[in-house]
Amino acid sequence: MGTQYVYFFGAGKADGNAKMKELLGGKGANLAEMTAIGLPVPAGFTITTEVCTEYYKNNQQYPAPLAAEVEANLARVEALMGKKFGDAKNPLLVSVRSGARASMPGMMDTILNLGLNDTTVQGIIAQSGDERFAYDAYRRFVQMYSDVVMGMHKDELEHLLERKKDARGVHLDTELAASDWKELVSEFKAKIKATLGVDFPEDPKEQLWGAIGAVFGSWMNQRAITYRKLNNIPAEWGTAVNVQSMVFGNMGDDCATGVAFTRDPSTGENYFYGEYLVNAQGEDVVAGIRTPQPINRAKYKPGDLPSMEEVLPECYQQLVQIRDILERHYKDMQDIEFTIEKGILYMLQCRSGKRTAKAAIKIAVDMVAEGLIDEKTAVLRVAPSQLDQLLHPSLDPKAEKKVIAKGLPASPGAAAGEVVFTADEAESAAKLGHKVILVRVETSPEDIHGMHAAQGILTARGGMTSHAAVVARGMGKCCVAGCGDIKVDYHAGQFVAKDGTVIKKGDVITLDGSTGEVMKGSVPMVAAGVGGDFATVMAWVDKFRRMKVRANADTPHDAKTARDFGAEGIGLCRTEHMFFEADRIAAVREMILSADLEGRKKALAKILPMQKGDFKGLFREMKGLPVTIRLLDPPLHEFLPQEDKDIDALSATMGVSAQTLKHKVEFLHEFNPMLGHRGCRLGVTFPEIYDMQVQAIMEAACELVKDEGFQIVPEIMIPLVAVTKELSIMRANAVAVCEDVQKRYGVKVDYLIGTMIELPRAAITADSIATEADFFSFGTNDLTQTTFGLSRDDAGKFLPFYVENGILEDDPFVTLDQNGVGALVRMGCEKGRLTRPKIKLGICGEHGGDPASVIFCDSVGLDYVSCSPFRVPIARLAAAHATLNAQAAAPAAKGAAAGKGSDAQQQPVAGA
Ligand code: ADP
Ligand code: MG
Ligand code: MG
Repeated sequence: MGTQYVYFFGAGKADGNAKMKELLGGKGANLAEMTAIGLPVPAGFTITTEVCTEYYKNNQQYPAPLAAEVEANLARVEALMGKKFGDAKNPLLVSVRSGARASMPGMMDTILNLGLNDTTVQGIIAQSGDERFAYDAYRRFVQMYSDVVMGMHKDELEHLLERKKDARGVHLDTELAASDWKELVSEFKAKIKATLGVDFPEDPKEQLWGAIGAVFGSWMNQRAITYRKLNNIPAEWGTAVNVQSMVFGNMGDDCATGVAFTRDPSTGENYFYGEYLVNAQGEDVVAGIRTPQPINRAKYKPGDLPSMEEVLPECYQQLVQIRDILERHYKDMQDIEFTIEKGILYMLQCRSGKRTAKAAIKIAVDMVAEGLIDEKTAVLRVAPSQLDQLLHPSLDPKAEKKVIAKGLPASPGAAAGEVVFTADEAESAAKLGHKVILVRVETSPEDIHGMHAAQGILTARGGMTSHAAVVARGMGKCCVAGCGDIKVDYHAGQFVAKDGTVIKKGDVITLDGSTGEVMKGSVPMVAAGVGGDFATVMAWVDKFRRMKVRANADTPHDAKTARDFGAEGIGLCRTEHMFFEADRIAAVREMILSADLEGRKKALAKILPMQKGDFKGLFREMKGLPVTIRLLDPPLHEFLPQEDKDIDALSATMGVSAQTLKHKVEFLHEFNPMLGHRGCRLGVTFPEIYDMQVQAIMEAACELVKDEGFQIVPEIMIPLVAVTKELSIMRANAVAVCEDVQKRYGVKVDYLIGTMIELPRAAITADSIATEADFFSFGTNDLTQTTFGLSRDDAGKFLPFYVENGILEDDPFVTLDQNGVGALVRMGCEKGRLTRPKIKLGICGEHGGDPASVIFCDSVGLDYVSCSPFRVPIARLAAAHATLNAQAAAPAAKGAAAGKGSDAQQQPVAGA
């Protein structure tokens, strides 16, 4: 037999299973799995993603065997259901549902009730004994099909519906009679014909193939493409199509439809969380047309409508059982869709539920305690990029706030910004650097780019499972949904809160996505707490990861933050900021502008005690952990006085004329400072600067060892080395100073001397450079600039265009360019180890806090990554993922992958 293009599921048997997501898409794979474990799933079949891929490869032609396979599987469904597709007496109706490998919420539209026409509707009337229901189903089908498949604008048919209600003098759909729906079906079809010039298809088979084609077509629509781009989903994956027999939640008050999460997706609490609607079909719950009711009383709020537990107790109990079965089976929190037709419960979907970072952590910890998963699995359940949410600020509880409205706490965190009312406005304002809050009546997939650009999202309508809520949680963005307290007026560009406050476009508001509160103005925020379950997960993380994580920190304050977030050292302390401080810049300028060595030494002597104090503060804060200090790096002109009054002041202290100083300033001007007189080029030409810094480092260390009983191994880092000779000179100078200081103090302090690898030449000649370096730290910010030959400060003019148009996949300053810059990093590691096998290797560019880059760093065998203090937990978690995934990929190499970093093994050069 050749390739199987269609997979059947029904009555306890399925061709596929949950592991076949690539082929069947997430929805199809889980429908198969649920069927096979005995859950009540309406029978159907899945057309594979491979068909989608081949369809686009072959000029939008289906593989030849597909038609026959669809026929055969349709016949199996008919046999099981005892109904026939297109039959006049007892017709089978189906839904046609898309389903990609990764869930793409709301990206592609489902068509329900397919198979209805003027003949089959009579069969539905006969079977259900409910003419109104039959014509309601029929008109819904015509609306959905004409929109999704035929390209009819939704509003045009909606308009006819509104007119019908006006004519009947009613407000609600439910008040329309069977005859009204029947008339509307004809009116809809006439309108479709008049608008599109084609008849609405009567033939069910034609309808089916039209719908299948539309699902495959929607894979390439703009919404889907945008979503894929934002979520890094390759277009080659394709979508599957699920054809499934219909069940009806809208045949009366013993019918319902709902969505639920097996645990709270916002907090992670272990209770059954969900919403449902009596007598409703499919999308009604998420569409926000009617206010959904809670499935139970677990979190009763005054004003809640009756719950499913009360209204349909038997079905509810069955659903609770299914919840347990699913959690024990999948060992993860599930997001489910169900429908009740005349008291009988059907499962229509399950998938691993999207959750906030907070929920991810709580669920992971709880499930370990419940014995469902082990610690390694728990660690892998939390996405590193998600942690950002937790590390984000929340409202300062002590701050005064003027609450003007309250909605649903749909996605936690807090955000403040200027109000905008459209996604496009949000995007363009954000591009100009404005922080904005996107306010909508409700959001739809067309708004994704605006939601992405906004700090937070506020909607007037929709529940906790509305589009806005689901998408915001996925993005880790603060969201207040269903805020009925506000009246949004797009026309006037404002919204009015219940208390009468008018908020105009551009006014600042604050959202609290954890409470649902909306506040006027900008409310102060505080940093996130990181105790409790977070600490538990992070302790597991630290058990499993191979790489160490350090922080880039220049001050004792930053160092403390970094320690609190679990940093195991400082990977980069930039000394230049110490030079900028108000009380020292004069001395620094004096040094730069001095005509001779004597003058420079005099000025440096003033700076020395200050630098020493800085280093002592840092060493104390790091309590014996490794600290890498980079010697002066930026071009000198950055320190120069620009204004006359500064020059005059200097001329007074230095006893040199202002005119002379001005000449010197002009002389120091550089055309291309980034590639100019900076880094070790300063150290080579003005050795006394580095000597002073090394002396300050060593004296600080010696004094702490002597007076405070400290353990410290300073790591002295020489920046911007291109040729080995630069480093050997700098190293010899530094060693001389270190030895001299130690002799003076009569103490022995171990130390390392190493270099940044931030120029391509250094990476390429790393074997030679390593002969003079105890460690390498890849400075991937500069390495990216110098490898691409672009300046980060000027890249804003073209880099966004490159990324948007796919010329570059990612911004290389955010995610390491693995093929180019990464290849140099790899080469640097390999060559460095050739001549110094135990060389300590790390990274200190901003990439050290980017999860994908961290995983790359693990793969080339770096000993540590260093990143900004707030990203330390993200890097720790990413490092653990790297180790665990590498172990899973190569079980044989387990022992080797778990080897310790070489922080402990590295031999310092003391006494060298
Ligand atoms: P999405 O991917 O947007 O969630 P779905 O394919 O799950 O789209 O379908 C949308 C809605 O239609 C869901 O609420 C689902 O429960 C409902 N639905 C889909 N297929 C059927 C069916 N065979 N019978 C009843 N309802 C269905
Ligand atoms: Mg669904
Ligand atoms: Mg640099």
